[in-house]
Amino acid sequence: MRVLWVVMDALGADKVTSELMPNLVALSSTGSVSHGIGVLPTTTYPNHATFVTGVEPAIHGLYANDVLRADRWVGAQTVGPDSPTIFDRCRELGLKSVAVLGDQNLVGVCGAGAATLHWPPGGVLVEGIACGPTGYAADTATVDAALELGVEQFEFAMVHLDENDAVSHIHGPHSEEARAQATASDIALGRLFEAYGPYWDDTVVIVLSDHSQEDVEPGAAVDMSARLEEVIAPVDPSARWRCDGTCLVVAPGMHPDVAEAVRGSVGVSGAVGGQQEGLVAWGSDGVLFGLDWGQGGDHGSIRCRAQVVVVGGGHPDADDLANSAADSVSSASSWYRRTLSLLGAVP
Ligand SMILES: [Zn+2]
Repeated sequence: MRVLWVVMDALGADKVTSELMPNLVALSSTGSVSHGIGVLPTTTYPNHATFVTGVEPAIHGLYANDVLRADRWVGAQTVGPDSPTIFDRCRELGLKSVAVLGDQNLVGVCGAGAATLHWPPGGVLVEGIACGPTGYAADTATVDAALELGVEQFEFAMVHLDENDAVSHIHGPHSEEARAQATASDIALGRLFEAYGPYWDDTVVIVLSDHSQEDVEPGAAVDMSARLEEVIAPVDPSARWRCDGTCLVVAPGMHPDVAEAVRGSVGVSGAVGGQQEGLVAWGSDGVLFGLDWGQGGDHGSIRCRAQVVVVGGGHPDADDLANSAADSVSSASSWYRRTLSLLGAVP
């Protein structure tokens, strides 16, 4: 049995058509296309950490792309998840695993150092490699690396393709450019599937996205930092928050009254969480809380929670998994357990 995960960053369900993504749709002809639901905030690192650990951010600890350590915000990749990952479990079970991650920070975020092999080595962008427009490895380069490492020879492989997210950020998720990128990413995906050809009857493929994106209005950013200073400091001067895309996150450990103060502040249209797990809040449609760099699309709010789920492959177990995925909305945390169960381990 081989299980291949491909995470196509920020892929929206609207792109999964035979016109735009024929290879992905062909995969679903031996399985299913369905929906998943990500964790909040709908940012890349909390969702990837949940994919690989099977638990919510409150447990794996990566509750935002940056997390608080000794009163300073540091990248989640420098901290890593607190919970055992699928790579740890594969190692314990004597299974070979590999991670090929277009966003190099995901090596740390996913604890992929515990995989039998990971790329890029040490989570450092390979010098001179082709990059997408936001500086992470281009999908063609990521798939080249995956093919070179022979991912099809591993019992568990995880491949992350970043470029769809990058292009959707710049031009907006519903732009012509984003549609063209979906097709380019699908061609890269097709090359990956081809490598599995000789082993297809032994393979289950799970293609996921970590979140979607929403259109943002240029110039619609709200300077929440200044507003929150006024709202939060009188309640709890030691509380710390971070704005990112279309959300803001207050770090766990805040005074319980902070959640109420944030919920009631001007510009906040919704929030979930609290003292223990941290608070995630967002504004109305298209309003950025984080940096406005003239982007056309972003994510972070509850509106970007939808995840694409496509299951297929030639192994007989692909059928059952495809049916179970199609029966209900799959939580991001479910893939850890489902995959280990395919590989013969009950976590
Ligand atoms: Zn992402």
